[in-house]
Amino acid sequence: MDYHNIFSDIAIELQAMENLGAVASYIPELQNVDSQKFGIHLSTIDKQDYSYGDSNDKISIQSIAKVLALTLAFVLEKDNLWNRVGVEPSGSPFNSLIQLEYEKGIPRNPFINAGALVICDILVSRLSRPEQEFLEFTRAVSGNAHINYGSRVAESERLTSYRNAAHLNLMKAYGNIRNDIDTVLDFYCHLCSIEMTCKELAQGFLYLASNGVNPFTGQRVIGESEAKRINAIMQLCGFYDEAGEFAFTVGLPGKSGVGGGIIAIHPGNYSIAVWSPKLNNKGNSYRGMRILEFFTTRTQSSIF
Ligand code: GLU
Repeated sequence: MDYHNIFSDIAIELQAMENLGAVASYIPELQNVDSQKFGIHLSTIDKQDYSYGDSNDKISIQSIAKVLALTLAFVLEKDNLWNRVGVEPSGSPFNSLIQLEYEKGIPRNPFINAGALVICDILVSRLSRPEQEFLEFTRAVSGNAHINYGSRVAESERLTSYRNAAHLNLMKAYGNIRNDIDTVLDFYCHLCSIEMTCKELAQGFLYLASNGVNPFTGQRVIGESEAKRINAIMQLCGFYDEAGEFAFTVGLPGKSGVGGGIIAIHPGNYSIAVWSPKLNNKGNSYRGMRILEFFTTRTQSSIF
């Protein structure tokens, strides 16, 4: 398949379309990005790499990090995890508090903020130096020792994290948060601030396309069955309340972040990371969704 040609066709399509949406600004530091940039990186399980555009720019991966946090928590807790967080799509915004009260402090899934905060609480309980050990895990999974937290973004989010603090307080009232709220919130803001390029994302998440093993490092990150389950959750819950639209138009499991990045997985085949900072009104990268829609259409590689 001539992926370079496909990517240039996609770029031509993008030029013809208006770049709609807005860069996330509720975390002030995220606004400081050129909204016209976009990058694409495809990694296949037979270790072929294809890049286009700004694929070597570091981006704030934001909620994409929730997949790594879930992976580590799943390795540590096994199926006990599901006593504290569900696997159902939420159908509501990523930071909505309403459902959480109805469901007595058990978040719908690990990818809405409430669920990711429970996962962070579990990791804080399990790890003696959570920030350091999570970073080491991310570096090992990706086979890249240079991945780091974005301290300015972490600080910026921490100073404005009123809603996430509200989630933690509500869940603590229901007994689903075991640790100190500030400690969990610090850890959460750090993991959301991780900076990776599209290339690092595509290579780093290839374990989900390859039955839990990173083909670049040969390292087993997670069991085959667990990788399958994480892909299932990404398919159903990876795009806030737009998971249906993503399945409908793109047809791959994936996860987006408010930094404008999206990782998508074709199990048994490839992982692809795209980035464009402007978000639609559901919080997903406007162009990122279009790029992936063109890509799976041209390559006929929707999983459906
Ligand atoms: N750190 C962001 C928040 O908690 C993550 C949101 C996202 O990327 O979905 O609001």
